[in-house]
Amino acid sequence: MKRFILAATVSLMALSTAQAAVTEADVANDQTITSQVVTNGMGRNLQRFSPLDAINKDTVGSLVPAWAFSMGGEKQRGQETQPLVYDGIMYVTGSYSRLYAIDVKTGKEIWQYDARLPEGILPCCDVINRGAAIYGDNIYFGTLDARLVALNLKTGDVVWNKKIADYRAGYSYTAAPLIVNGLIVTGNSGGEFGIVGEVQARNAETGDLVWTRPVIEGHMGTLNGEESTMTGTLNATWPGDMWKTGGGATWLGGSYDADTDTLVFGTGNPAPWNSHLRNAGAPTEGNVGDNLYAASRLGIDPATGEIKWHFQTTPREGWDFDGVNEVVAFTDREGNDRFATADRNGFFYVLNRADGKFVSAVPFVKDISWASGIDENGRPIYNEDNRPGDPSAATDGDKGEMVFAIPSFLGGKNWMPMAYSQRTGNFYVPSNEWGMDIWNEPVTYREGAAYLGSGFTIKPLFEDYIGSLKAIDPDSGEIKWEYKNDAPLWAGVMTTAGGLVFTGTPEGEFIALDDETGEKLWSFQTGSGIVGQPITWEMDGEQYVSVASGWGGAVPLWGGEVANRVNYLNQGGMIWTFKLAK
Ligand code: CA
Repeated sequence: MKRFILAATVSLMALSTAQAAVTEADVANDQTITSQVVTNGMGRNLQRFSPLDAINKDTVGSLVPAWAFSMGGEKQRGQETQPLVYDGIMYVTGSYSRLYAIDVKTGKEIWQYDARLPEGILPCCDVINRGAAIYGDNIYFGTLDARLVALNLKTGDVVWNKKIADYRAGYSYTAAPLIVNGLIVTGNSGGEFGIVGEVQARNAETGDLVWTRPVIEGHMGTLNGEESTMTGTLNATWPGDMWKTGGGATWLGGSYDADTDTLVFGTGNPAPWNSHLRNAGAPTEGNVGDNLYAASRLGIDPATGEIKWHFQTTPREGWDFDGVNEVVAFTDREGNDRFATADRNGFFYVLNRADGKFVSAVPFVKDISWASGIDENGRPIYNEDNRPGDPSAATDGDKGEMVFAIPSFLGGKNWMPMAYSQRTGNFYVPSNEWGMDIWNEPVTYREGAAYLGSGFTIKPLFEDYIGSLKAIDPDSGEIKWEYKNDAPLWAGVMTTAGGLVFTGTPEGEFIALDDETGEKLWSFQTGSGIVGQPITWEMDGEQYVSVASGWGGAVPLWGGEVANRVNYLNQGGMIWTFKLAK
């Protein structure tokens, strides 16, 4: 009898361990399960909307810190992470490829993983990481030496560690992985080094590759270890051999639309930046110079890695307008299934979810100079005299004609994710008003070296602000309100059923705005600049909000005159967690 009880206890324990594992259903329903955050974007559609409403317009004034956690060390660089919460533990990634497990009740560290990074990594835009993903008994995140690591949720022990690509050739990894049907789906970083953008899917248990999909035409995909299909048609839109080092880094990861069973990944700038070398500045001969599928959004079949559709935001790209920004699935007020994306190039696009077809586009930043608009097919109407000139035609040394272009190459919006509110039907888009002097120079490809062929200086457009959080009605394109900020905005946005829009500023303020008016209802000074992504969840009947604080990212490194304007900001590395005072 005694032995039987013991056996029963053991099997119950085994059962409870099995139940602790995160399932596809947990991942698929992350946007509605308020006790957890296990996906990037608070749901794979990346809406970043929480149905929680205990913290709302009336109560947010009494939001106070519950605990704060220091990431420690000397490695206080940009903290762009989105925390995850599961089964009593918060997981956060930090600069220099670190991952922390924290007791979510107390803020006490449980374990920490430090990736051993080799000498010679080539991160373009600070040593940041944007978050992890949870599935089964593991947590997954990518490292700056272009590897993907699976760690045990409870212990932090390494389950597997796989190479995505060769860091010596300029590849790195910074995005949060996306998990669909037991596949870990990742992109790659390194678009400034003439790498080739790719999407990879791996078996979550083993880390073995299931399929690969390079995103530049002419390259061959794989499925189950065999060649599958070529991406696009060789030399249809690329001249000569330029496709071989064509860029298109998929560096911001992707989203998943369950309704159409489609992965959506954005692709970065074609390489090099000098568009004349890619035939982009030449009179159009067919579509050579469009450089597919760089600066595009791709709909991909998660089972096979085949491209279902593409939409190129900036064909003939010549300003570093990466097409990587997140694509958010939503349903418009008339019940149409749509995608929305706010591009680096300054236009806010609505696409049809079934086939990626263009629906509408409106400018979301001021004084866009490179195009006068978007035509009925979704193609930019270029101002060709705002394309940086061809250096081979230069009369003054090697430098092509310089232009002042708006927006700057850091974009009308960069990586920092917007949010959609199911309450208002509006998008909340973190944008920046800035331009750049940009010119082209001769360049040849060399493995592991910057492959730009351009020079640039970013400049503010206005004296009193650069950052601008905008509420955009996706149906009309109307900007409902704007919240201006002195420094450029670089943090993620979150909306809630409580009628709040949360984001942070480089000046260190974590803020809650009224989703209908943009009025600032609450703020808290976190001590360093916020470039992280807020989350909210529920524990023991109380709603919590968390965000990382730690200034850094691309602006201080690449921001030109803007970097000088914000060079007083302090670095840091904290996770702040808030709840309502009782
Ligand atoms: Ca780029």
